[in-house]
Amino acid sequence: MADYEAFKHRAEVKRDKFRKTLSRLKKLHDNQVDKMFHEAHERAFAQIDCLTCAFCCRHVGPRLTRQDIKRAAGELRMKETEFENTYLRIDEDQDFVFKSMPCPFLGSDNHCSIYEDRPKACREYPHTDRRKMKQIFNLTLTNSTCCPAVEKILDDLG
Ligand code: SF4
Ligand code: SF4
Repeated sequence: MADYEAFKHRAEVKRDKFRKTLSRLKKLHDNQVDKMFHEAHERAFAQIDCLTCAFCCRHVGPRLTRQDIKRAAGELRMKETEFENTYLRIDEDQDFVFKSMPCPFLGSDNHCSIYEDRPKACREYPHTDRRKMKQIFNLTLTNSTCCPAVEKILDDLG
């Protein structure tokens, strides 16, 4: 099992360096930045096995949309309100999030028990292969201290 606290500490130490990397990239053209991120994303995930990590499922967790709730409740043969009452709470931004972490659907082997119907935010995390990366540089900096793949990508681009 990967050591989250050791990772957090290492990533926090690199935070200033990552901030400078992102400031430098911000001056480049949007398409160029997207291409650089997408290539670094591919390189990072070719080396990282998320099943040996699961930090995002243990410590971050998604915001769930109405569509996410509908899909996951359907998979579990539950009514949407039952799903909400059992697993979710409303956070300070009025979004649905899991009541507690680690995520209730994370297995001891780090597999997701609703993988095919997992929330959109889980599918897209850590968002380093999307378009218009420059719009989410603050989030990417935050994610560099939650996700070893983002740390690797920013090391790569630094
Ligand atoms: S729903 Fe699945 S992918 Fe999303 S946080 Fe939970 S275990 Fe992880
Ligand atoms: S997306 Fe990042 S935090 Fe989540 S399991 Fe993969 S490497 Fe770990």
